[in-house]
Amino acid sequence: MEQLLELYQTMGISPAVYEHGEKTLEKIKDRFAAIDQVAEYNQAKVLHAFQKNRVSATCFAASTGYGYNDEGRDKLEQVYADVFHTEAALVRPHITCGTHALTIALSANLLPGDELLSPVGLPYDTLQEVIGIRPSPCSLAEYGVSYNQVDLLPDGTFDYEGIRKAINPKTKMITIQRSKGYATRPTFSVTQIGELIAFCKSIKPDVIVMVDNCYGEFVETIEPSDLGADMIVGSLIKNPGGGLASSGGYIAGTRTCVDRCAYRLSAPGLGQEVGANFGLMTSLYQGFFLSPTVTASALKGAIFAANLYEPLGFKCVPNATESRHDIIQAVELGSEKGMISFCKGIQAAAPVDSYADPIPGDMPGYDSQVIMAAGAFVQGSTMELSADGPIREPYAVYFQGGLTWSHAKLGILMSLQKMVDAGLITL
Ligand SMILES: *Cc1c(COP(=O)(O)O)cnc(C)c1O
Repeated sequence: MEQLLELYQTMGISPAVYEHGEKTLEKIKDRFAAIDQVAEYNQAKVLHAFQKNRVSATCFAASTGYGYNDEGRDKLEQVYADVFHTEAALVRPHITCGTHALTIALSANLLPGDELLSPVGLPYDTLQEVIGIRPSPCSLAEYGVSYNQVDLLPDGTFDYEGIRKAINPKTKMITIQRSKGYATRPTFSVTQIGELIAFCKSIKPDVIVMVDNCYGEFVETIEPSDLGADMIVGSLIKNPGGGLASSGGYIAGTRTCVDRCAYRLSAPGLGQEVGANFGLMTSLYQGFFLSPTVTASALKGAIFAANLYEPLGFKCVPNATESRHDIIQAVELGSEKGMISFCKGIQAAAPVDSYADPIPGDMPGYDSQVIMAAGAFVQGSTMELSADGPIREPYAVYFQGGLTWSHAKLGILMSLQKMVDAGLITL
């Protein structure tokens, strides 16, 4: 590997950093093999759905205007529904991001007087304005939907007694966030989520359970919809878009819930029947097809990062040995300077905008400054190698993505190099 070392050195990675990476890799070979097995299963699951639905080249045709009788769009939605084992799915490029998809799912299924319960603590930053936890025009609170929350217990598990007490006659929907998002709590496994759903439904059988599935798709062989979720919701510029979808979101779930979502997205009476695809079908299909292996690459990157940084004294969530339920790796760098150095490395390793210098700034929907490193083909895509985080205690960067494992590796090595260069780490 002389040749590789030489090229890496040309790109700014020192032999010491490279060596540290190689030693780390030796330790995690078995975990990589397990990830490949999950990817193989999920690849077959996706292929099976493509074949069952007889996906053909005509599915990739562009539609315009109203988008009536758009076979490609309708089949893609059936493919998603089959993969996630749901009655229906809404998969649209018109859904601008994950927050938008979640907003549709919430506002379509909650009416004035209803209550939304989060039994897993505070939801993701952007949802706080959607719900009205932080006041915002057009929030659910403004429309008379109330909100209740039960925090996790100090050890990160569910407070079943608290949840039992919180469920009341007004509780119409329960929202469960699978991934930790910008919190340092653990991400839940699909099995844990299944247990929580079963508990909630044992108290109130007709409660609608929505799972914010962002970053979780294809990390395991089952999804929350396999264990009782009425809706799972996510972004196409994360896992299921496979890095190719240039925009979009999905909601997969029961026919009743998804119909309401479609009415909310377009208009009552129109629902899923309208919505031109703008010629984006190839990327949505191909991205979903690639998603299991792209997710595997990202997971390998996350595990590599944890195993690289933890021995150097940085707290990693999940830690180096824990099992994985999403593609996010939080690394607590302890200072703003650490966050900036780490992000500089990710940026410098990017295929796009590698010359840019990330600095903290304000972001809509977030209440503290945020730093982001991404040199992505799709703006803001966190399926692509990226790192970001709010500049606040404990100064954690949330690292995720990597369309290829080789790129993820290079990016992480470069982040370490920048930390070394800044004098924050001595190898
Ligand atoms: C990314 C994410 C969202 C939605 O974010 P967008 O940036 O709007 O796509 C929601 N919840 C979680 C847990 C997320 O990770």
